[in-house]
Amino acid sequence: MPAKPQPNLLFNEYVKNIGGRKGKGVVDAIGDGATDEHIEKKTKYKMTEIRSLLNRLQDAGIVEYSRVKNMQSGWFTYTWRVNRTRATGNYMTQLRKKYEVLLRMRENLDGAQTYRCPKGCVKLPFEEAMEGAFRCPKCEGKMRTVDASAERRELEKQLGAIDTILKK
Ligand SMILES: [Zn+2]
Repeated sequence: MPAKPQPNLLFNEYVKNIGGRKGKGVVDAIGDGATDEHIEKKTKYKMTEIRSLLNRLQDAGIVEYSRVKNMQSGWFTYTWRVNRTRATGNYMTQLRKKYEVLLRMRENLDGAQTYRCPKGCVKLPFEEAMEGAFRCPKCEGKMRTVDASAERRELEKQLGAIDTILKK
């Protein structure tokens, strides 16, 4: 049987990326819906910290609020809810964008040889190095190709990691 998608895993990872361990604490405290005060009671975090975490989580589409005005005091009560579907969707979109960027970076690595002066004066793309007959424009030293294999390995590693997540 093929592996089933694991939205919970993705969701938790996204929450951790955005809010860290305490962000996860706030999300857990919200449960099926909670006010700031309830979150404070449950997490024992400072209210200023909770509000800042809620802001970050809201910006990322992880939580949202509804507010009710108290007719006597005129104050609003905010009730927070977790939107797992939207959060997971946002995270997938973010990962796909990052994947595209990494792919382009890999293409650039493949497409263009870079040359550098062994003394470290300059780094030039192939065309410019060739125009200078592969001599450093500053010290006349013989330019050498830059070994991009470490960079490429790092890109492959990141691409592979995202690939695994997106296939989950
Ligand atoms: Zn040089």
